[in-house]
Amino acid sequence: SGTTSERVNSNQIMVCVRKRPLRRKELADREQDVVSIPSKHTLVVHEPRKHVNLVKFLENHSFRFDYVFNEDCSNAMVYEYTARPLIKHIFDGGMATCFAYGQTGSGKTHTMGGQFPGRHQSSMDGIYGMAAMDVFATLKTVPYNKLNLKVSCSFFEIYGSRVFDLLMPGKPQLRVLEDSNQQVNVVGLTQNAVQNTDDVLALLELGNSVRTSGHTSANSKSSRSHAVFQIVLRSATEEKLHGKFSLIDLAGNERGADNSSADRVTRLEGSEINKSLLVLKECIRALGRQSSHLPFRGSKLTHVLRDSFIGGKKVKTCMIAMISPCLHSVEHTLNTLRYADRVK
Ligand code: ADP
Ligand code: MG
Repeated sequence: SGTTSERVNSNQIMVCVRKRPLRRKELADREQDVVSIPSKHTLVVHEPRKHVNLVKFLENHSFRFDYVFNEDCSNAMVYEYTARPLIKHIFDGGMATCFAYGQTGSGKTHTMGGQFPGRHQSSMDGIYGMAAMDVFATLKTVPYNKLNLKVSCSFFEIYGSRVFDLLMPGKPQLRVLEDSNQQVNVVGLTQNAVQNTDDVLALLELGNSVRTSGHTSANSKSSRSHAVFQIVLRSATEEKLHGKFSLIDLAGNERGADNSSADRVTRLEGSEINKSLLVLKECIRALGRQSSHLPFRGSKLTHVLRDSFIGGKKVKTCMIAMISPCLHSVEHTLNTLRYADRVK
């Protein structure tokens, strides 16, 4: 049996999937790989099932996406087909977003480049760093060198419905206000001017260290927040916004379904994350349908990203759904793929 979904290819919304390789520990534990990728656009999950008479069989779930990256693909390759095409878009005066979606441990932070410093890899190897490098390269090319643009970066975290500045000492909480023109402002958000890629990498390292420090189990805490890194282009002469690229490492999606936890706070956090991911899906779908009804006020994440959803053709978005190859994670993997499938 199996299901195949067909979609229209629109270049305004891209939905891709990345399968990470089995980790050393998983190989040692003889974890089974249940995900196959027959082509650049298709993916099949082989889910072990049992008939009522206990005869085992595999149920194959087929999916089709704009791109499917297998376990041999590098971050550079993922970048090339996802975030890279959006660089030109922001230079042309557009708004772009790139989301890393998936369960905790599926490779979101690895792909975005949020945890490399001190881990034998440099921030340069993630999407954040590669995007920064291309922004500075593009800035020097015709016709964009004539625009007299300046570049700045922000980096903040959304935890529940609270926003924290990752570039300010002490990680202060910031207020989000909507003015009479429906412009949403994160009040006091650091917007650091940057001159080159090294400046950006320094900010990334600062923000990443702030994001995970001070917690006993750093990863579990960071997996419950959305991290938003923004590269902003402004015209130097009028200080006017020219284009913006938001790169988002989303909270792990596995908690949404978790109603079993005895801890009330954990359950509340889970439902909060679940809600923000549902609203995000609705906002991207509305964008794809040119619908005027965008429920962006339904979560802090989409509220803060309002200007990246409003604006018709000047808005482009890319979602990279990360999945684990493991049998152990097959339920979460199917949830992730169904969500990604519904986004478009
Ligand atoms: P998430 O941010 O989704 O919770 P991580 O990015 O922290 O997941 O990845 C979990 C682990 O798997 C990390 O040790 C990471 O280095 C490793 N990993 C993830 N994706 C890949 C990949 N494509 N290649 C090699 N290792 C990966
Ligand atoms: Mg992470």
